[in-house]
Amino acid sequence: MAIVKCQTVVNILEELAPRKLAESWDNVGLLVGDGRQEVKKVMVCLDVPEWVVDEAVSKNVDMIIAHHPIIFSGMKKINNDNVLGRKLLKLIKNNISVYCTHTNYDIVKNGLNDAFADLLGFEEHQIIEETTQEKLLKLAVYVPQGYELKVMEAMSNAGAGFIGAYSHCSFRTNGVGTFKPTEGAKPFIGEANKLEEVQEYKLETIVPEKLLSKVLRDMQKVHPYEEVAYDIYELANKGKRQGVGRLVVLEHDKTLMELAEDIKQKLGISTIRLAGDRYKSVRKLALLNGAGNKFVNSAYFSGAQVLITGDMQYHEILDAVEMGISVIDAGHYATEKLMSKKIAEHLIERFNALKYDVEVFESETNIDPVLNI
Ligand SMILES: [Zn+2]
Repeated sequence: MAIVKCQTVVNILEELAPRKLAESWDNVGLLVGDGRQEVKKVMVCLDVPEWVVDEAVSKNVDMIIAHHPIIFSGMKKINNDNVLGRKLLKLIKNNISVYCTHTNYDIVKNGLNDAFADLLGFEEHQIIEETTQEKLLKLAVYVPQGYELKVMEAMSNAGAGFIGAYSHCSFRTNGVGTFKPTEGAKPFIGEANKLEEVQEYKLETIVPEKLLSKVLRDMQKVHPYEEVAYDIYELANKGKRQGVGRLVVLEHDKTLMELAEDIKQKLGISTIRLAGDRYKSVRKLALLNGAGNKFVNSAYFSGAQVLITGDMQYHEILDAVEMGISVIDAGHYATEKLMSKKIAEHLIERFNALKYDVEVFESETNIDPVLNI
């Protein structure tokens, strides 16, 4: 069995939820620890209060994966005078790393926003507030005739040429390429110091920026030329959108009361906060796990009639109701606790596929600190 380093676990998590998707105010990534450290036990949780650190110490955990960043704002000292300093000292003394995947995991497709909507039983959901849009490039490569399909296939298999539900999208035009090999060149066609004219195709395809190096590498592997000529253009076309919040349109109207009861049952909670006319029929719902305070305007402009979230404050609830949006607040923990299950399942699946001997489990002490009585 291979030794698994902390950085390997980080890479697996960042494939799932790239760090660059996080909101600008957020603090995500490896917040405590050393990427070179060996990892045998991983514990997943929503928060890292001191009792969760104690649980990790008692269970010999090497790495904690949390949703809410353990360090959020600037620190001037780390000592035992305050809770955060105490926690950090305890983590470092016990060789426990902490990786936080927060708004990047909320936002990413099939991340927590989607998982929350799925949990509530909504299959179709759209983004409410766009945060990033994939940059697209046009790659034009010059290929001698007879090699165009091989090169196109290699680029397409590396992720180029996708337009909507279509793969292998490309366009090629016939032309004449010229070159003169100089001393030291090892030309596929032609000889040194003699001008060559070759029938070539200009093969064009679309490439998401993040896949460009892979596409170029795979293209060059099958291209017969020693020096491959290609052009890369930035496109004004935009690729896949990523964003925060999900908009759901119900097939049939529901009253706010019916919706709230349904959500209580799906989340397994006995109380829920509701603001607005409980008998009002609604069809368009804005969903956001966690704190939804700053989301009222986006929900309003998306046309939602109700905002389903957790952790709303009094004045923001009042603002929402005045704007005409009802609010269903199921609590911060209840709307996000599935994060630890989802991340643990993903890590177990990846570790098994890679034959990594790493134990993964969810924290038992990271329960809802709020008791609704
Ligand atoms: Zn949260």
